[in-house]
Amino acid sequence: MRIDLHTHSTVSDGTDTPAELVRRAGAAGLDAVALTDHDTTAGWDEAAAALPAGMTLVRGMEMSCTGLGEDGRPVPVHLLAYLFDPADSSFAAERERLRGERVARVRAMAERMAADGLPIDPDAVLAGAGAVAGRPHLARALMAAGVVPTVDAAFRELLAPHSPYYLDKADTPLDRAVAMVAAAGGVTVVAHVRARSRGRLLDLAEVRRLAALGLGGIEVDHPDHALADREILRELVTELGLIATGSSDYHGADKAIELGGFTTDPEQFERLIDKASGISVIAA
Ligand SMILES: [Zn+2]
Ligand SMILES: [Zn+2]
Repeated sequence: MRIDLHTHSTVSDGTDTPAELVRRAGAAGLDAVALTDHDTTAGWDEAAAALPAGMTLVRGMEMSCTGLGEDGRPVPVHLLAYLFDPADSSFAAERERLRGERVARVRAMAERMAADGLPIDPDAVLAGAGAVAGRPHLARALMAAGVVPTVDAAFRELLAPHSPYYLDKADTPLDRAVAMVAAAGGVTVVAHVRARSRGRLLDLAEVRRLAALGLGGIEVDHPDHALADREILRELVTELGLIATGSSDYHGADKAIELGGFTTDPEQFERLIDKASGISVIAA
């Protein structure tokens, strides 16, 4: 059984529609796929309707959070949330707040670029991004305007925290996010927690603390994790009795990684499903 628990569609910053994504997952030989767009559940229904026969869909989301970095300063953290009840009102309100933060941040970054003479139209970027705007939308606009050769270059040069155009947003504190998802019957897995290329790292003491507060698991195998870091995380998962996942973090055409590039062990997948009480997986 091949299981990929972290993917993005056009509903956030991927390039495949939810329907294209699940069809592609089937064609790639996956048995189960999770749709985990940033801060939204908007792609769930389309993915479910297009699910190829024999496949399982895990409805999830990747939530924008903030935790404490190894250097003691706040650091952005992504928290995967699976199988939570989307109707839970306090969690639904928080997702809406996070989407508002995203739009405001992308607009403000685009305005800084435009004011500096870069050929970026903030209105056009936001119109193309929809409800879940993100830095990848800015990256694509910069590439289309010929400012940078690739999306990766945009992230390295103009969209990284050291760039004068970079702005923070007010994400959900990790503790609160773990508690909210649990209250909605969902399971949380901290995403790409050792992705050094993305910047400063979360203090692993935070993961230990969150485990005591109900964190479900750690994304161990991820394209941005070095082998040595995966080993550190595997040991931590064992020590804390958490679920270990492996996923591609597929975004479509922008990044080299394919669906199923990393996968989750079926036993770990069973544990994740057993822990959830919000909604069930969908089998076609
Ligand atoms: Zn992420
Ligand atoms: Zn992701």
